[in-house]
Amino acid sequence: MPDCELIAECPFFNGRMTTTPALAAMYKLIYCHEDNVPCARHQVFLKLGKPAVPPDLFPHMQDEAETILARS
Ligand code: SF4
Repeated sequence: MPDCELIAECPFFNGRMTTTPALAAMYKLIYCHEDNVPCARHQVFLKLGKPAVPPDLFPHMQDEAETILARS
């Protein structure tokens, strides 16, 4: 898959969310460069739009994304 279309503006990808460098690198490889479909941030963005994506939602937080989407 190509890089996620949100890379240029994504707070996670651009280091504006606190995590360890090793974890960030792993998530960027798995989600941002390989497959954005399971990314929690991308899922909320697709269904509800950019303003609905919480600033502290990490790519691996699929349960939280499901909760947000179920509430909408
Ligand atoms: S964290 Fe998710 S929304 Fe952000 S660039 Fe990576 S795949 Fe896209």
